[in-house]
Amino acid sequence: MASPLVLVHGGAGSIPPASQYAHANGCQLAAEVGGAVLQAGGSSVDAACAAVEVLEDNPIYNAGRGCALTREGRVSLDAAVMCGKSRNAAGLAALDAFPHPIQIARAMLEEPEVLLVGHPASEWASSRGFRRVPENELTTEAARIQWHKVVEEGADSNFAGGTVGAVVRDKDGFLAAATSTGGTMGKKPGRVGDSPLIGAGTYADSKCAVSATGHGEAFMRAVFGARVADAIRFGEDPAAALERSLIRTRDFFGGIGGAILVTPDSGPQQFWTTPGMSHGWWSPEGSGCGI
Ligand code: ASP
Repeated sequence: MASPLVLVHGGAGSIPPASQYAHANGCQLAAEVGGAVLQAGGSSVDAACAAVEVLEDNPIYNAGRGCALTREGRVSLDAAVMCGKSRNAAGLAALDAFPHPIQIARAMLEEPEVLLVGHPASEWASSRGFRRVPENELTTEAARIQWHKVVEEGADSNFAGGTVGAVVRDKDGFLAAATSTGGTMGKKPGRVGDSPLIGAGTYADSKCAVSATGHGEAFMRAVFGARVADAIRFGEDPAAALERSLIRTRDFFGGIGGAILVTPDSGPQQFWTTPGMSHGWWSPEGSGCGI
């Protein structure tokens, strides 16, 4: 029997002091929901997706409701999940306004394809019974204000912050990772970040599950998730591998961010090169959060 663990993040970036409590607390609540799924006998994939779904519903994060918008002010969502036990993985990119992209990724785990993009991805989701909503249902006032600053006033878009993710270890020691995001504020239509790309922003195998957040282009160039997992597989200490890989992503690939990680026997591992990263955790001993 392994010790179950749920660890979630609510995105790396500069989280304004006024929203830090809500950001961190939302992560703890999501981790607790994931924990309840594990206690009810759910798998690591079930728990990771349940935790991410809670964060997609919370408008403070850049995923589902509250997502970042394209240059045209449109919704375009990315999400992925990977099961460390089966090594099945599914990602969706540039998806239309679906409230819970992670549910769609979960459903896609059963399909032979690993990545669906754009209009056909949305059509597939609709054909599987997922409900597309009007874009304004996912567009918050805060997102519109931020969009205005970035697109119309030329503020630094960099990355939006608030991407969400979860990594889970279930009682059998199996791992899973899930990530969901609206991407970068003011992004080009069709732009895809690291989150839905297996081995970049999301990755899980038998030794490690990781979900990243930050400057997606750098995390893609660094092949972040796969490199961290390989480092751990070949013996590097998980905390050291995470920290080194994030510093390498910053120094060699020019992008800051953060990530969460679990292994079959580690405690929760989180590290960031941004001013902060909201995160929360649950284990049978209790739950908590930080920023
Ligand atoms: N990594 C995400 C992306 O580039 C953004 C973020 O984590 O804030 O799409």
